[in-house]
Amino acid sequence: MIILKLGGSILTKKDLKKAEVNYANLDRIATEIKDAFTDINVNQDLSEGLVIIHGAGSYGHPPAKKYKIGEPFEKNQYSQRRIGFSKTQNCVKKLNTIICESLINHEIPCVAIQASSFITTKNKRIKSFNLSLIKKYLEEGFVPVIYGDVVLDEELKIAVLSGDQILQYIAKNLKIRDSKSNKKVVILGTDVSGVFTKNPKKYDDAKHIPKLSSLDEIEKFDSTTNIDVTGGMIGKIKELLQLAEIGIESKIINANESGAISNALLNKKVEGTIIK
Ligand code: ADP
Repeated sequence: MIILKLGGSILTKKDLKKAEVNYANLDRIATEIKDAFTDINVNQDLSEGLVIIHGAGSYGHPPAKKYKIGEPFEKNQYSQRRIGFSKTQNCVKKLNTIICESLINHEIPCVAIQASSFITTKNKRIKSFNLSLIKKYLEEGFVPVIYGDVVLDEELKIAVLSGDQILQYIAKNLKIRDSKSNKKVVILGTDVSGVFTKNPKKYDDAKHIPKLSSLDEIEKFDSTTNIDVTGGMIGKIKELLQLAEIGIESKIINANESGAISNALLNKKVEGTIIK
């Protein structure tokens, strides 16, 4: 089974404060996914199913930030926070609709799955997430598409759930019936070629890290230059190190580069960082 995360930085213009889709990237990536399916014999992992997870980008982060979703608040502020929750949920749903429309236009049998309708967190970490429906869709040959969203939180009332945490949970807990190996291939497409010693968008002397197994290898912490309320690159790495601990390897690649996603899906060589 392959779990593919498409970062908000790839699918939207994430440096913008207003919601805008990067249609050129979306169409190219949908084509690459379709091509990989056509070439399925090259990578048998794909025949065991594909789950797509996408980020919220400029659709989700600006309203979540504006309404301070996930930050503690006084009782009399709840009505404002609730509206912020609704707005954020609606925005990321719109992005998901656009993404699914493109996938369907490329004949990819996707099914949209909304985290806010069935996942809850406790202090921003997933508390309940029933994977059985995702499993059933996979067994029926569908491609589930789940995305970063707002959710109910046991401690904070409401919180933001990142696509990266969803990816970690699915990679750790989803077991497919009849799968011979239960092996998972975890690929993350973002807007840089993996992990560097510091933010490559800010520092010219940032060095690429081809293999990462601890946060110690990063010199300087700077989550993201994009608008992101869920931790950016550091948040991503923390989730992926949890997978590495239980033997699940993941790879961060640059999905701005044409062919990177299809090559990764077909198990061909792609520049990036392996977290193991
Ligand atoms: P996505 O939306 O694709 O999930 P994020 O915006 O959350 O991506 O994270 C990717 C961003 O993280 C990059 O654009 C980069 O600017 C930033 N970043 C910060 N530190 C690093 C680092 N050490 N290595 C790579 N990228 C980093």
